[in-house]
Amino acid sequence: MTVMVPSRTPALITPGQQALDSALHQLGQAAEHLGLDEGLRTMLATPRRSLTVSVPVRREDGRMDVVQGFRVQHNVSRGPAKGGIRFHPSTDIHEVTALAMWMTWKCALVGIPYGGAKGGVAVNPAELTTRELERLTRRYVNEILPLIGPEKDIPAPDVGTDEQTMAWIMDTYSVNAGYSVPGVVTGKPMTLGGSLGRAGATSRGVQIAALTALGRSPEGVRVAVQGFGKVGALAAQYLSDVGCTVVAVSDVGGAVHDAGGLDIAGLREHSAQTGGVSGYRHADAMSHDELFELDVDLLIPAALEGVITAENAPRVRARLIVEGANGPTTPEADEVLAANGTTVVPDILANAGGVIVSYLEWVQNMQAFSWSAAEVELKLRDLMQGAFGEVKSLAAEKGLTLRQAAHVIGVGRVAEAHQMRGLYP
Ligand code: NAD
Repeated sequence: MTVMVPSRTPALITPGQQALDSALHQLGQAAEHLGLDEGLRTMLATPRRSLTVSVPVRREDGRMDVVQGFRVQHNVSRGPAKGGIRFHPSTDIHEVTALAMWMTWKCALVGIPYGGAKGGVAVNPAELTTRELERLTRRYVNEILPLIGPEKDIPAPDVGTDEQTMAWIMDTYSVNAGYSVPGVVTGKPMTLGGSLGRAGATSRGVQIAALTALGRSPEGVRVAVQGFGKVGALAAQYLSDVGCTVVAVSDVGGAVHDAGGLDIAGLREHSAQTGGVSGYRHADAMSHDELFELDVDLLIPAALEGVITAENAPRVRARLIVEGANGPTTPEADEVLAANGTTVVPDILANAGGVIVSYLEWVQNMQAFSWSAAEVELKLRDLMQGAFGEVKSLAAEKGLTLRQAAHVIGVGRVAEAHQMRGLYP
């Protein structure tokens, strides 16, 4: 796989390039294990379609800014492309490609009939007014319009985007089509065809993965969560609800700590009112770095990529890491953690709850039908636990880490789809 990872001066590697290097490294390991031939390896390492667009935005003061946007369809051999849209200032084509690749393996691993995609706009949504965000979203959607559609490529929320963003996307697409097309995005508000259980689905999946990996009563299990956004805040809540003691959480503005356990509902309210966890008066402030080094049983990274590295991994004391975020652990850190006996439930398994319920939302949209919250949760649990069982068995049988086993299964299924379909022409 060396051919696919061009050498770079380390100081010049962007976080996005680092994420793509990690994704390619993981693919390389799985391809080696599966004995895939060079042509197929290159096919799987290369996105099918990759679009970079310029998005002009009219600001409130009349100025026009132009920002870059991306949509990458990594693979469509098993079904339509599927993946979130991220609004973040440092997103770039490399990061979006890595995230799209992880989506491909994730969908294959949990057995839903999708390929992988991702989108991004290099912008800080916190610096835009709601009207500016709406204009930006609608123009970005117009620029990527030829790629998306309920049978081709279905976006969803990711970092910096939410139900409102999905509503604007659904509306923009529908106005262009001339009729309502709810199945073009998932993670929509309920009133536009969203699914019961979608808003908390990724976090519920993280909870299921964590409890399955712990294999014991959650009572008193000490937890730290990095990232208190859509995934991290509800993961903390759901774990706290079943008796875990969440001792620390962080967001981009800071980290808070209480060795006796944080009141997560109170902290969510504080965060909603003030825009962050900092300043919560029932907890002590701590640094971002300290959170990773706490003496906890379970660490949940739920923010961005590349936060557990060769540098800080030796100081991680948690015995279990469940990756709410995509790509939080670098391959070098993985080696340190494995040597230290730390179990890592990898992103493509741990945070698959989101895309599982996105799939259920899409199925409901395509059938103009709806399931109860209990039916959605049951299907989510079945798929999460089924995939977890397969990963655990393969890891035990072949002496692999959970990440290696998850990639062998995901990559193997996509490779098999390619082999069965053959090469056109
Ligand atoms: P979000 O924008 O709702 O939340 C991100 C959180 O991370 C925010 O609280 C932000 O303040 C925090 N953060 C950013 N930089 C930080 C830093 N340096 N230190 C601490 N906190 C920091 O995004 P989200 O949807 O919760 O996504 C989080 C992660 O989960 C991403 O990796 C995303 O790809 C992944 N994910 C999301 C979903 C989903 O359904 N939303 C599904 C699967 C995976």
